[in-house]
Amino acid sequence: MSNLERQCATSISTDCPEGSRQPVNQRIATRDAVLGAGMTIRRALPSRQRRMIGAWCFLDHFGPVDVSIGEGLRVGPHPHIGLQTVTWPLEGEIVHRDSLGYAQPIRPGQLNLMTAGRGISHSEESPGERPPGLHGAQLWIALPDADRHCEPAFDHYAELPVLQREGMAITVLLGEAFGERSPGRVFSPLVGLDLIAPGKAAMMVPLQAEFEYGALVLEGSVLLEGEPLAIGTFLYLGCGRTTLQLRTSAAARVLLIGGEPFGEEVLLWWNFVARTRAEIETARADWEAGRGFGEVRGYPGARLAAPQLPWAA
Ligand code: MN
Repeated sequence: MSNLERQCATSISTDCPEGSRQPVNQRIATRDAVLGAGMTIRRALPSRQRRMIGAWCFLDHFGPVDVSIGEGLRVGPHPHIGLQTVTWPLEGEIVHRDSLGYAQPIRPGQLNLMTAGRGISHSEESPGERPPGLHGAQLWIALPDADRHCEPAFDHYAELPVLQREGMAITVLLGEAFGERSPGRVFSPLVGLDLIAPGKAAMMVPLQAEFEYGALVLEGSVLLEGEPLAIGTFLYLGCGRTTLQLRTSAAARVLLIGGEPFGEEVLLWWNFVARTRAEIETARADWEAGRGFGEVRGYPGARLAAPQLPWAA
């Protein structure tokens, strides 16, 4: 998806408090942003308090929203550089189209992983025939400096490892957990887990001490190490944990992301992950001139125009 804010601020990975080498419970309120007509999303990353969790640099929770009337989701063609996008629907269906020629519907349980590298453009839309509800998460992963100019790629994973533990269903979106590894290709050590409790449940999630972690509730509410967490709050957990106690009293769903602290200063603006303002200026100018990002075919609408830069170019 796209960052559709017209007043689009710059996010620098080092302009927030330093990540914690120790376990912490830092509560960060998500903020509402608008994703197209009528759809409000909750943005957990980046925030002023926390820009990244490992290489994870963007996290939106969208819906649930009724898309049975009107056009549904319509995010027109827009560019990306320097990142991977992760689309994780919980409910509904989305069609992805990109400048490599892919036109891929995605449904719950499936993962779309798009590697922008040096540049790609894509669109996302609700199909004409669709379920009434739309609900999900969109995440971005910053590419390390050595890989961020790679050739663009798109991968759709129709199936991911799903484990059952203590009555809970755990999907390994990316990385490895419980001895299961996601087929998704990533470029730095990280993990993404979706944990579903159908009701009252308790389990210990194994963590890696050298990773920092963050958690976002997608449905219901949970207790993480005794800390109550519900929709509207992102919980930064820091590094240094080997387990995370997860308890629920009713049906709930939580997204857990983690990774090695990224260690590179990252500059994020609009849909670009870069290192310098000059790179962002070039990418913006290329997109506005129709250069370098290919063409998305078949999207029923207009491409997105870049917002104004927040600095004088
Ligand atoms: Mn996008």
